[in-house]
Amino acid sequence: MNNLFWEKQAEKLDWYKKWKSVIAGERPYKRWFTGGKLNASYQCLDRHIKNGLGQKIAIYWINELGESQSFSYKQVYDEVNRLAFGLNNLGVKKGDVVVIYMPMIVQAIFSMLAVARVGAIHNVVFSAFSYKSLKDRIIDTNAKFLITADYSLRRGKFIDLKFVADLASHETSIQKVIVVKRTNLDISLDPEKDILYQDLIKNSKDYFEPVQVESNDPLFVLYTSGTTGKPKGIVHSTGGYLTYVNYSYNAAFGDTKNSVYWCTADVGWVTGHSYAVYAPLMNGATSVIYEGAPDFPNPSIWWKLIEKYKVNILYTSPTAIRMLRKLGEEWLENIDLSSLKVLGSVGEIINPDIWQWFFERIGGSRCPIIDTWWQTETGGFMICPKINYKLEDLKAGSPTFPLDEIEIDILDEDGKSVPVGQKGYLVIKNFWPGLTLGIWGDNKRFEETYWSKFKDAYYPGDYAIKDKDGYIWFLGRSDETLNIAGHRIGTGEIENAVVKNINIAETAVAAIPDKIKGQNFVLFVVLKQNNNLDNIILEKEIINTLKIEIGALAKPAKIYFVESLPKTRSGKIMRRVLSSLLQKSDVGDLTTLENISCIDNIRSVIALDKI
Ligand code: ATP
Ligand code: MG
Repeated sequence: MNNLFWEKQAEKLDWYKKWKSVIAGERPYKRWFTGGKLNASYQCLDRHIKNGLGQKIAIYWINELGESQSFSYKQVYDEVNRLAFGLNNLGVKKGDVVVIYMPMIVQAIFSMLAVARVGAIHNVVFSAFSYKSLKDRIIDTNAKFLITADYSLRRGKFIDLKFVADLASHETSIQKVIVVKRTNLDISLDPEKDILYQDLIKNSKDYFEPVQVESNDPLFVLYTSGTTGKPKGIVHSTGGYLTYVNYSYNAAFGDTKNSVYWCTADVGWVTGHSYAVYAPLMNGATSVIYEGAPDFPNPSIWWKLIEKYKVNILYTSPTAIRMLRKLGEEWLENIDLSSLKVLGSVGEIINPDIWQWFFERIGGSRCPIIDTWWQTETGGFMICPKINYKLEDLKAGSPTFPLDEIEIDILDEDGKSVPVGQKGYLVIKNFWPGLTLGIWGDNKRFEETYWSKFKDAYYPGDYAIKDKDGYIWFLGRSDETLNIAGHRIGTGEIENAVVKNINIAETAVAAIPDKIKGQNFVLFVVLKQNNNLDNIILEKEIINTLKIEIGALAKPAKIYFVESLPKTRSGKIMRRVLSSLLQKSDVGDLTTLENISCIDNIRSVIALDKI
């Protein structure tokens, strides 16, 4: 571990007090920049005001109704100060958890920064989560404060968020609910408990002195996507986290001071935290924040926003790219995307064919694709191309190499390094400042999940391979990896091959037990739109492609054509749900499932087959 390297990265932030040691403590609870004092909202706002950047646009906000607003750094600063003052008056103090249950409106960002300014801990909960998911999180963190909005807007519908917030906070630790009133629609307010956001900031002061927190005081707790099971409350520090987010953002996207940057992730996910809020604001970039779905009012909305705001950097997810590709090329016609310079991807494997489409059709074959592999737990990018790589250095579908000072290895079941070209479990061998402090209130689960499979290494739970040039390729989640007659095949390997077929929008592999081979798999396939292909011909094509690309072993027991795949609300395919549906076993924790309606369609497709 190169302490000097990380010390240099930390020095790029403004500290009230310098740290005593760069790293201290026992694994896996190593702590960074101990004794150092700072404040996250200062990093994002005050430092720019001091440097004369107050008038610069920090945020362009747009919603699906076409309403828009822009905010300079000074305007964000003023709002955050007033809100911090108001929160402090309400009794929010250092160490308190404040739940933020809000749509993609600027007040969600102001709230995160104001909570950080008073030294408290934010827990942002994605606004499309049900009352039950919100309640679970409130119970887990024991939060006393909740900030929400009256309504959220999704695909033309207003959703009564306050109603959901009331249901969720009923008979919990929540004492005060702050409500952003953004519509003229009615909401019920409890005079004892509820306060309008607008009233809270009306009589506030223009300045609230940032509370100095220790580097390892938590900045936030955030729950993982729940792709593989019950979501985990991941806690992040202030000093180490911000240092790492700042470092990784610059390594991947370069100096963005003069860029218009659009990270499409919702603030309810870690990508939204690290790369829609903290990194761009710390770096004085101009961010686009869009409240709406990528295909509403129509699938050209994103491209039109890129044209209108002259977006230079677009950071998004494979699931969104697959969806937009599926809906047809006509939505891209007559739109000027020439402002784009850099593209980014996160969340899942970006299948090489999807990569190619993104590269050519969106990036005009001139923008690098920064495919970033990381997790809620890692705080920031771990494996991704750096901005100074040449286009020729990229390989479609590989996030390339680890960032500086990130030491990775690929191990077999016994913990031995596998030779180049052999599949295995990816691990991280050293510590880095962005690593989570742990799981909220559950050290045991933290130690078991990440630190027990292998000695002396962090185990993220992903299956991977390193090619002869040192490029890393992800093959899927370790616990979804198939073992067919003793051969391990990652779900990603099969899915990458299947989506090569130009008629297929997306696909997922689900494992099933097999008496002879031990395990086999079923393929679920979603076709592109306006398709009247013969499924039997398509099945033959798929089987043939798999045979050529992977081998005779990769022959699906069944291929089902379905309307859509089960996905988390962050857009990740939930393969475990497919396997359970096939085996008629308990589907497990579904609180993060987005499209519950797809389950009926999948069940009926499977049932029809059995008739
Ligand atoms: P849970 O941990 O609750 O099951 P999750 O793992 O989906 O949910 P996140 O932290 O949002 O929660 O996602 C991290 C995971 O997403 C990684 O471990 C990896 O499996 C996948 N992932 C993220 N980025 C990439 C990428 N660029 N390429 C391949 N896989 C990726
Ligand atoms: Mg995970």
